[in-house]
Amino acid sequence: MSRYLGSVCKLCRREKEKLFLKGERCSSNCALDRKRGKNGPGQHGAAKSKMSDYAKHLREKQKARRVYGLTEQQFRRYYEEAERMKGSTGDNLLRLLELRLDNVVYRLGMAASKKLARQIVNHGNVLVNDKRIDVPRYQVKAGDVITVPEKYKENFALKKLVEKTSASVPAWLSFDKNKVAGTVVSEPLAGESSHPINSQLIVEYYSK
Ligand code: SF4
Repeated sequence: MSRYLGSVCKLCRREKEKLFLKGERCSSNCALDRKRGKNGPGQHGAAKSKMSDYAKHLREKQKARRVYGLTEQQFRRYYEEAERMKGSTGDNLLRLLELRLDNVVYRLGMAASKKLARQIVNHGNVLVNDKRIDVPRYQVKAGDVITVPEKYKENFALKKLVEKTSASVPAWLSFDKNKVAGTVVSEPLAGESSHPINSQLIVEYYSK
Protein backbone atom coordinates (compact mmCIF):
# COMPACT_ATOMS: atom_id res chain seq x y z
CA MET A 1 0.00 0.00 0.00
CA SER A 2 1.41 3.41 -0.91
CA ARG A 3 1.81 6.36 1.45
CA TYR A 4 -1.37 8.35 2.21
CA LEU A 5 -1.30 11.76 0.52
CA GLY A 6 -4.75 13.10 1.42
CA SER A 7 -5.86 15.37 4.26
CA VAL A 8 -4.27 14.29 7.54
CA CYS A 9 -7.08 15.89 9.54
CA LYS A 10 -9.38 13.34 7.93
CA LEU A 11 -7.29 10.61 9.57
CA CYS A 12 -7.86 12.15 13.01
CA ARG A 13 -11.57 12.42 12.31
CA ARG A 14 -11.60 8.77 11.27
CA GLU A 15 -10.02 7.76 14.59
CA LYS A 16 -12.19 10.31 16.45
CA GLU A 17 -9.20 11.72 18.31
CA LYS A 18 -6.35 14.16 17.81
CA LEU A 19 -3.32 12.39 16.37
CA PHE A 20 -1.25 15.61 16.17
CA LEU A 21 -0.17 15.12 12.57
CA LYS A 22 0.11 18.79 11.62
CA GLY A 23 2.48 20.27 14.14
CA GLU A 24 1.70 23.62 15.77
CA ARG A 25 -1.64 23.95 14.04
CA CYS A 26 -2.93 20.99 16.06
CA SER A 27 -2.82 23.09 19.23
CA SER A 28 -4.13 26.33 17.79
CA ASN A 29 -6.60 25.49 15.04
CA CYS A 30 -7.83 21.92 15.15
CA ALA A 31 -11.11 20.84 13.58
CA LEU A 32 -11.57 18.25 16.35
CA ASP A 33 -11.76 21.02 18.92
CA ARG A 34 -14.86 22.26 17.14
CA LYS A 35 -18.15 20.36 17.27
CA ARG A 36 -18.40 19.56 13.56
CA GLY A 37 -14.89 18.19 13.44
CA LYS A 38 -15.75 15.54 16.00
CA ASN A 39 -17.74 13.58 13.42
CA GLY A 40 -16.01 10.99 11.29
CA PRO A 41 -15.26 11.93 7.66
CA GLY A 42 -17.77 11.42 4.86
CA GLN A 43 -21.55 11.47 4.47
CA HIS A 44 -22.21 9.11 7.40
CA GLY A 45 -19.51 10.50 9.64
CA ALA A 46 -22.01 11.67 12.27
CA ALA A 47 -23.76 8.29 12.48
CA LYS A 48 -23.14 6.43 15.74
CA SER A 49 -22.60 2.69 15.48
CA LYS A 50 -21.47 0.06 17.98
CA MET A 51 -18.01 -1.23 17.16
CA SER A 52 -17.38 -4.96 16.87
CA ASP A 53 -14.27 -6.41 18.54
CA TYR A 54 -12.65 -6.74 15.13
CA ALA A 55 -13.33 -3.08 14.39
CA LYS A 56 -11.79 -2.05 17.73
CA HIS A 57 -8.63 -4.04 16.97
CA LEU A 58 -8.46 -2.68 13.44
CA ARG A 59 -8.94 0.93 14.55
CA GLU A 60 -6.18 0.69 17.15
CA LYS A 61 -3.80 -0.73 14.56
CA GLN A 62 -4.74 2.00 12.07
CA LYS A 63 -4.34 4.67 14.72
CA ALA A 64 -0.81 3.48 15.60
CA ARG A 65 0.10 3.26 11.93
CA ARG A 66 -1.09 6.82 11.35
CA VAL A 67 0.59 8.24 14.44
CA TYR A 68 3.96 6.93 13.18
CA GLY A 69 3.20 7.65 9.49
CA LEU A 70 3.80 4.11 8.28
CA THR A 71 2.39 2.11 5.41
CA GLU A 72 0.60 -1.15 6.11
CA GLN A 73 3.61 -3.14 4.95
CA GLN A 74 6.08 -1.18 7.09
CA PHE A 75 3.85 -1.52 10.15
CA ARG A 76 3.46 -5.25 9.60
CA ARG A 77 7.26 -5.62 9.44
CA TYR A 78 7.57 -3.90 12.82
CA TYR A 79 4.98 -6.25 14.23
CA GLU A 80 6.80 -9.32 12.92
CA GLU A 81 10.07 -8.07 14.38
CA ALA A 82 8.37 -7.40 17.73
CA GLU A 83 7.01 -10.94 17.70
CA ARG A 84 10.49 -12.40 17.19
CA MET A 85 11.86 -10.47 20.17
CA LYS A 86 11.78 -11.72 23.76
CA GLY A 87 9.05 -10.34 26.04
CA SER A 88 5.66 -8.83 25.33
CA THR A 89 5.02 -8.36 21.60
CA GLY A 90 2.88 -5.26 22.23
CA ASP A 91 5.54 -3.55 24.36
CA ASN A 92 8.26 -4.54 21.87
CA LEU A 93 6.22 -3.08 19.04
CA LEU A 94 5.74 0.30 20.72
CA ARG A 95 9.40 0.41 21.74
CA LEU A 96 10.56 -0.26 18.17
CA LEU A 97 8.27 2.48 16.88
CA GLU A 98 9.36 4.99 19.51
CA LEU A 99 13.04 4.36 18.82
CA ARG A 100 12.76 5.30 15.15
CA LEU A 101 15.07 8.23 14.47
CA ASP A 102 12.31 10.46 13.02
CA ASN A 103 10.17 9.86 16.12
CA VAL A 104 13.06 10.67 18.46
CA VAL A 105 13.78 13.91 16.55
CA TYR A 106 10.10 14.83 17.00
CA ARG A 107 10.04 13.91 20.68
CA LEU A 108 13.16 15.94 21.34
CA GLY A 109 11.21 18.93 20.02
CA MET A 110 13.47 19.46 17.01
CA ALA A 111 10.52 19.21 14.58
CA ALA A 112 6.90 20.32 14.93
CA SER A 113 5.47 17.04 13.61
CA LYS A 114 6.65 13.54 12.80
CA LYS A 115 6.24 14.30 9.11
CA LEU A 116 8.61 17.27 9.40
CA ALA A 117 11.00 15.20 11.50
CA ARG A 118 11.11 12.64 8.70
CA GLN A 119 11.90 15.39 6.18
CA ILE A 120 14.69 16.77 8.34
CA VAL A 121 16.23 13.29 8.59
CA ASN A 122 15.75 12.60 4.88
CA HIS A 123 17.51 15.87 4.03
CA GLY A 124 20.58 14.80 6.00
CA ASN A 125 20.11 17.34 8.79
CA VAL A 126 20.42 14.89 11.67
CA LEU A 127 23.57 13.41 13.17
CA VAL A 128 23.67 10.38 15.45
CA ASN A 129 26.92 10.21 17.41
CA ASP A 130 28.36 12.80 14.95
CA LYS A 131 27.53 10.64 11.94
CA ARG A 132 24.99 11.85 9.37
CA ILE A 133 22.00 9.47 9.25
CA ASP A 134 19.37 10.11 6.59
CA VAL A 135 17.20 7.04 7.21
CA PRO A 136 14.06 7.87 9.25
CA ARG A 137 13.56 4.23 10.29
CA TYR A 138 17.06 4.08 11.85
CA GLN A 139 16.75 2.61 15.35
CA VAL A 140 18.49 4.64 18.03
CA LYS A 141 19.70 3.02 21.24
CA ALA A 142 20.41 4.09 24.80
CA GLY A 143 23.45 6.36 24.92
CA ASP A 144 23.07 7.72 21.37
CA VAL A 145 23.48 11.48 20.98
CA ILE A 146 21.31 13.17 18.37
CA THR A 147 22.29 16.57 17.07
CA VAL A 148 22.27 18.65 13.87
CA PRO A 149 25.07 19.99 11.62
CA GLU A 150 26.44 23.43 12.65
CA LYS A 151 24.87 25.09 9.61
CA TYR A 152 21.40 23.74 10.41
CA LYS A 153 21.56 25.16 13.95
CA GLU A 154 20.88 28.56 12.34
CA ASN A 155 17.61 27.34 10.82
CA PHE A 156 14.86 29.74 11.97
CA ALA A 157 12.18 27.09 12.54
CA LEU A 158 14.58 24.92 14.53
CA LYS A 159 15.68 27.85 16.72
CA LYS A 160 12.03 28.68 17.49
CA LEU A 161 11.24 25.08 18.42
CA VAL A 162 14.35 24.62 20.54
CA GLU A 163 13.36 27.65 22.65
CA LYS A 164 10.32 25.84 24.01
CA THR A 165 11.36 22.22 23.78
CA SER A 166 12.73 20.98 27.13
CA ALA A 167 9.37 21.00 28.95
CA SER A 168 7.88 18.36 26.67
CA VAL A 169 10.85 15.97 26.37
CA PRO A 170 9.94 12.55 27.82
CA ALA A 171 11.91 11.02 30.72
CA TRP A 172 13.75 8.53 28.51
CA LEU A 173 15.33 11.38 26.52
CA SER A 174 17.24 14.48 27.55
CA PHE A 175 17.86 17.66 25.59
CA ASP A 176 20.57 20.30 25.85
CA LYS A 177 19.21 23.55 24.40
CA ASN A 178 22.58 25.24 24.15
CA LYS A 179 24.21 22.44 22.17
CA VAL A 180 20.97 21.52 20.34
CA ALA A 181 21.75 17.93 21.29
CA GLY A 182 19.50 15.17 22.56
CA THR A 183 20.54 11.99 24.35
CA VAL A 184 18.68 8.69 24.52
CA VAL A 185 18.89 8.12 28.28
CA SER A 186 17.19 4.72 28.18
CA GLU A 187 14.76 2.77 26.08
CA PRO A 188 11.14 3.90 26.53
CA LEU A 189 9.02 1.90 28.96
CA ALA A 190 5.51 0.69 28.19
CA GLY A 191 3.22 3.70 28.47
CA GLU A 192 5.90 6.20 27.45
CA SER A 193 5.00 6.32 23.77
CA SER A 194 4.13 9.61 22.07
CA HIS A 195 0.45 8.74 21.85
CA PRO A 196 -1.73 6.49 24.03
CA ILE A 197 -1.97 3.23 22.10
CA ASN A 198 -3.39 -0.05 23.40
CA SER A 199 -0.82 -2.43 21.92
CA GLN A 200 -2.76 -5.48 23.15
CA LEU A 201 -5.57 -4.66 20.70
CA ILE A 202 -2.98 -4.58 17.88
CA VAL A 203 -1.59 -7.97 18.97
CA GLU A 204 -5.13 -9.36 18.92
CA TYR A 205 -5.68 -7.89 15.45
CA TYR A 206 -2.66 -9.70 14.01
CA SER A 207 -3.30 -12.90 15.99
CA LYS A 208 -6.61 -13.61 14.25
FE1 SF4 B 1 -5.69 18.13 11.99
FE2 SF4 B 1 -3.83 18.18 13.90
FE3 SF4 B 1 -6.34 18.44 14.57
FE4 SF4 B 1 -5.42 16.10 13.68
S1 SF4 B 1 -4.84 17.09 15.59
S2 SF4 B 1 -7.37 17.10 13.11
S3 SF4 B 1 -3.92 16.77 12.18
S4 SF4 B 1 -5.18 19.88 13.29
